[in-house]
Amino acid sequence: MTTTMKKAAVGTPDFEYGGYTIEEYERIFAYKKEGTMPSFEEVEESKRKGKRSTFRHKCADFAISADGTSLMYYKMNKYDTKKKADDGSGTTAEVKKLRVVVRKGEVERIVRTVHEEIGHLMQKNTYKQVKDRFYWETVQEDVRAFVASCVKCQKNRPFKDQPAVLCPVPPPSNALSQWGMDLIKLPETEDGYNYLIVAINHLMKWPEAHPLKSKTAADVLVVCLGATSALERPAALHYSSMT
Ligand SMILES: [Zn+2]
Repeated sequence: MTTTMKKAAVGTPDFEYGGYTIEEYERIFAYKKEGTMPSFEEVEESKRKGKRSTFRHKCADFAISADGTSLMYYKMNKYDTKKKADDGSGTTAEVKKLRVVVRKGEVERIVRTVHEEIGHLMQKNTYKQVKDRFYWETVQEDVRAFVASCVKCQKNRPFKDQPAVLCPVPPPSNALSQWGMDLIKLPETEDGYNYLIVAINHLMKWPEAHPLKSKTAADVLVVCLGATSALERPAALHYSSMT
């Protein structure tokens, strides 16, 4: 029986970080260092020539580090071929900035190290720094998952929507001047009513409740005025919605 394993979504507890499989890493490393071509025994003999050609082509983007111990990657994208190198010696593609190839199991440690080095500068900056120095195929997803789980970043994250500031409600000046209102969504009745608007007079605690078929501003206003202005137009309405 075969089971299809679907990769868990970024940020979920089962998310698995990427990186080169050890087997793939070692095959490329052996070819670049010793010229050893994989046997490709897993495929039919007639298909091995094509496999070797594809593998050779793929390996053109890799190199061995100066100390001979690590696999490096140096393929540039189109942007890099036009961009000038920092020292002005040519384009970045010509300078061929090498990046360390990262294996499975190493990703979390590397992202954590870079992220802490730059002082928890959230996702965008971490991604830029990691991809400048390291290479594997899912850098962006892995950085996003790591930063989403970083407690320090979550605590320091600027709020997109600042919570509303609570301010004390002054006491009503007279019996009908101040009302509180709630709009509540309820199951639809046979007559097509979906909402209930409830108004309470702040001083007398007099309640008013009216059903509504829709919650457009015009519908709500008609009910508000009908409920509150029989004797006097209110000076203040405090409104909240549970819909
Ligand atoms: Zn962080």
